[in-house]
Amino acid sequence: VAGSSPRVGVLALQGDVREHVQVLQRFGVEPLEVRTLAQFDVVDALVIPGGESTVIDKLSRLFGLAKPIREAINNGMPVLGTCAGLIMLASDLADGTADQETFGGLDVTVRRNAFGAQVDSFDTEIAIPAISPDPVRATFIRAPIIERVGDGVSVLAALPDGRVVAAEQGNVIGISFHPEVSGETRIHEYFLQRVNNLANKSES
Ligand code: GLN
Repeated sequence: VAGSSPRVGVLALQGDVREHVQVLQRFGVEPLEVRTLAQFDVVDALVIPGGESTVIDKLSRLFGLAKPIREAINNGMPVLGTCAGLIMLASDLADGTADQETFGGLDVTVRRNAFGAQVDSFDTEIAIPAISPDPVRATFIRAPIIERVGDGVSVLAALPDGRVVAAEQGNVIGISFHPEVSGETRIHEYFLQRVNNLANKSES
């Protein structure tokens, strides 16, 4: 509807839903937790949280959400995925389980649990020049990495050793770490700006 602000959903099947909701609320957005098709039908943008991608995959198929989400992303719905959410947005997985499916949208190959046991989880600061001139706080928890980046995908951030940990393509942003658990808000702010820009464009 012209003039109304876009509705942002958080896919709430499993994972750190509450943390994403809280960051979005800091920007005055009251996100809708999406567990059903009826809820998904009324959102204009979607955040896919971290958690366990195999579980999010299974539940999204069970609840009939996988296909509509895939189609909405193809049709330009803005999406932000963190960690397991990035895995759900990858077109290809290097090491998914045998029957694991993704929504796709980001032409990348992602490897799950890409950091060895010793560095299973760690906090760091990382430069994301497209988002902020100052480094962003990043929490990696059994995090994936992006091993291949397709044409048309821009790399947003890489670790000092060159491994890619954040990328975007059109309406899709995928981040291998968690900004939402370390009090970091700039990535959500960037996402919300894009959501509003796309909404304004479709109105005019
Ligand atoms: N290792 C998880 C997976 O494969 C992702 C971890 C996370 O989201 N923190 O889905």
